[in-house]
Amino acid sequence: MRTEEIVVVGAGAAGMMAAIEAAARGCQVLLLDRNEKAGKKVFITGKGRCNVTNACDTSDLFSNIISNEKFLYSAIYQFDNHQVMDFFEKEGCPLKVERGSRVFPVSDHSSDVIKVLLMKMNSLGVKIRYHALVEDLIIDENQTIRGVVLEKGERIFADKVILATGGLSYSPTGSDGKMLYILEKHGHKIVEPKPALVPFEIKEDLGSRLQGLALKNVVLTVKDGKKELFKGMGEMLFTHFGISGPLVLSASSYYVKKAYKKEVTAILDLKPALDEEQLDKRILRDFEENKNRLFKNSLDKLLPAKLIPVIIDYSGIHPEKKINEIVREERKRLVQLLKHLEMNITGTRSFREAIITQGGVSVKEVNPSTMESKKIQGLYLAGEMLDIDAVTGGYNIQLAWSTGHLAGESAALKVKQQKF
Ligand SMILES: Cc1cc2nc3c(=O)[nH]c(=O)nc-3n(C[C@H](O)[C@H](O)[C@H](O)COP(=O)(O)OP(=O)(O)OC[C@H]3O[C@@H](n4cnc5c(N)ncnc54)[C@H](O)[C@@H]3O)c2cc1C
Repeated sequence: MRTEEIVVVGAGAAGMMAAIEAAARGCQVLLLDRNEKAGKKVFITGKGRCNVTNACDTSDLFSNIISNEKFLYSAIYQFDNHQVMDFFEKEGCPLKVERGSRVFPVSDHSSDVIKVLLMKMNSLGVKIRYHALVEDLIIDENQTIRGVVLEKGERIFADKVILATGGLSYSPTGSDGKMLYILEKHGHKIVEPKPALVPFEIKEDLGSRLQGLALKNVVLTVKDGKKELFKGMGEMLFTHFGISGPLVLSASSYYVKKAYKKEVTAILDLKPALDEEQLDKRILRDFEENKNRLFKNSLDKLLPAKLIPVIIDYSGIHPEKKINEIVREERKRLVQLLKHLEMNITGTRSFREAIITQGGVSVKEVNPSTMESKKIQGLYLAGEMLDIDAVTGGYNIQLAWSTGHLAGESAALKVKQQKF
């Protein structure tokens, strides 16, 4: 009976990095993926450009992590964002840094990131087997991993197994979360998986009325009663069901963490550069210049065309009213509306539209210094399948590179240690 040294399950960001690191340390590695090719999710990251990491100071990575930042210290510090950048550049994928320190391949092609990983695995002798769906784990009576079971019952034995099967989002890429339930069956605690970095659904008809409207430099605050869950500035988009865009996706991760499925309030400041007094003065000035115009024709300097009829409706000021007939109270109401446009968030869209999964294998049962399971010896876990997540900006894939690298290193060291 043949036994592999290390079997890695999942040829995503974490699994490929784990395979590379384990092979670089002299282990013989077999990488399994259910798909017909590697890196299907990496391919679609960053709108096909792959935001490979963030070039911030490594210590700043932690403030962008939503779940279990402390657990990630060892993993990040042994293979940090700058080492990730060095790795790709050295292996032949030049990188560039864009707005918000986001790092992309100079070519703007995520396929170049995958190409480098495949070439590196090839040069290190990693064997890859596609169409290999892992359906169970082989665990002996001492709670030690012995291998994996494939779809048709084929058993592959291994000294160590690294699982990097991802979360539940965008399941056509191969990550459907089923491995979480296999682990649960074998005694691992799973923190409820929830869609995160995901658009919001709202109660009001604003989404359908403003569908397609993108707003830049607005401030969004999300509140659960009086408790502020999120406040941030950036870009958002109205869609047929509600709101989306980078600012909303970031807000969603905090909402999912603290108030999942609750109805909460979103408050939009359309003019964050001006305080209420300054905005009132600005509107007064506009009104002075347009004294004899109708209210409905007076806001075009202040707002995008699509937003004007909505703001007019919400203001309660008659659209046919002449500007010089608008009283102070009405003008104040308009200012309030532009600074505090309220929407009721009723929930998020599903995993199909979620960039990542929040929740997964509880990190309490994983050794942070090695990524080894505390429940099953010789089993290592990496990437999005763990209960770790971050905001957008290249941080999530960085967590996959870091945890994958640490799992690969630890598994390889253990194999070598046990052999000699
Ligand atoms: C649209 C989109 C855009 C994104 N953009 C960015 C970005 O620009 N920057 C960023 O930081 N993050 C981004 N992310 C998030 C990031 O892609 C993921 O967090 C990261 O890829 C997770 O890597 P992983 O290796 O843990 O899992 P995955 O990449 O999901 O890989 C898991 C692999 O395991 C395989 N697998 C699953 N189950 C089995 C099984 N039972 N048997 C065999 N194989 C199995 C799957 O086929 C898959 O290949 C984006 C995500 C999406 C959906």
